[in-house]
Amino acid sequence: MASFDAPLGSSTVPHVTGKLPGPRSAELLARQELRESNARSYPRHLPFAIADAAGSFIRDLDGNVFIDFLAGAGALSLGHNHPELVAKVTEQLGVLTHGLDVPTPAKDAFTHAQLAMLPASMRRRMKIQFCDPSGANAVDAALKLCQTATGRAEVVSFQGAFHGASHAATALTGHVTQPSAAPRVHFFPFSSCGRCPLALAPGTCEINCVSVLERALANPHSGVPLPAAVIMELVQGEGGVIPARGEFARRVRRLTRELGIPLVVDEVQTGCGRTGTWFAFEQYDIEPDVIVASKALSGIGQPVAIVIYDQRLDTWRPAAPAGTFQGNQLAFIAGAESVRIVCRDNILGNVRARGEQVAGRLTELTDHPGVSEVRGRGLMWGIELTPPPGGRPVGELAEEIQARALHNGLIVARGGRDGGVLRLLPPLNVTEQVMDIALDILIEAIRTRTTAHALAA
Ligand code: PLP
Repeated sequence: MASFDAPLGSSTVPHVTGKLPGPRSAELLARQELRESNARSYPRHLPFAIADAAGSFIRDLDGNVFIDFLAGAGALSLGHNHPELVAKVTEQLGVLTHGLDVPTPAKDAFTHAQLAMLPASMRRRMKIQFCDPSGANAVDAALKLCQTATGRAEVVSFQGAFHGASHAATALTGHVTQPSAAPRVHFFPFSSCGRCPLALAPGTCEINCVSVLERALANPHSGVPLPAAVIMELVQGEGGVIPARGEFARRVRRLTRELGIPLVVDEVQTGCGRTGTWFAFEQYDIEPDVIVASKALSGIGQPVAIVIYDQRLDTWRPAAPAGTFQGNQLAFIAGAESVRIVCRDNILGNVRARGEQVAGRLTELTDHPGVSEVRGRGLMWGIELTPPPGGRPVGELAEEIQARALHNGLIVARGGRDGGVLRLLPPLNVTEQVMDIALDILIEAIRTRTTAHALAA
């Protein structure tokens, strides 16, 4: 094990020396390449092996310290190893770790905390289903719920959406009493104004993208039967950090309500405070029928996933969505504590303040020719790059920027169309100072690499 002279918790600045990966990281990366599947993803662009982590910082095996603005793909909402969460989890380890779906004090506290975070008007009528622990598991469960309740099979989703990778597994289940969770999916345009799905000229928009869905569902010749559910991210995350327009979301809500279609909001990434409210839908003045949440529920990366839904949909039979890992007590105890800390420390206030800080700093990029759009809500930001001159793929440019930022001590994600969007998912309790250092690194990397591409063209 590497030994370090300073505890990482005291880090306030990143530092990277020499080439990445360093020799000790390179050794593990090489072994990983030999032994693990070709599907491994993050280490291809973030080439280091992690030794330890604290707060907004990660240290690799060679002693390099990075600011971590990927934060477990958004799971580490209170940063790495939040001391109060570590204390709760450590205590719980000696009490109970796994409880199936049997009630326990930890589960009860978690359930109470989650329902208490809903808007007051929704608290009484919503119920919780615990699922196997990934976001994709919860999406599967939400669709099954809506299929069972409506007796319908098909689902409406939106172009650019991402709802997880495990959905197909349910389609392989031969148990005929369970409705298949692999429905026929109809994709409709999302309100992605930077790339208007209808190619409308600026200034002519009347949110016509939602009217495509409205007309299709009203037209018996459209080939789209009444679906079991409409599923929507209010800010498309993996799709490139695209917030839905308010009017778009409200019209989807109005339409689904009129037609009796359950509206599922996928808050796996946007939930637990990421956008500045506990759930993103609160900013849209809508009440969904079903909410899917996972990633940051425990605050410390312990896996747990839930579907919160209107009890009118509760037509499931016992064990309808069964699963071995529905009872992670460590996640429950951490999740209840996480909610307490979020409220006590006004973490949502910090998300909004730091979000304004990001917005303010990134305005210096809005006129930069290498950047086509800067978008975000709270602490979920995307910087869409302009395809470089000379026909090089925009994803390559994004990779170069990501690599330069990493060499200067900042971990950022990528996503969006052709991988051309740089994405920030910092811990929600990130400080103003760390945010400033991170933005300095990011802006320098964008300026340097986009200018180099322009000169080379
Ligand atoms: N839904 C959304 C909106 C997501 O962003 C993700 C993952 O990034 C998922 C679902 C899938 O979550 P998981 O990777 O835990 O299965």
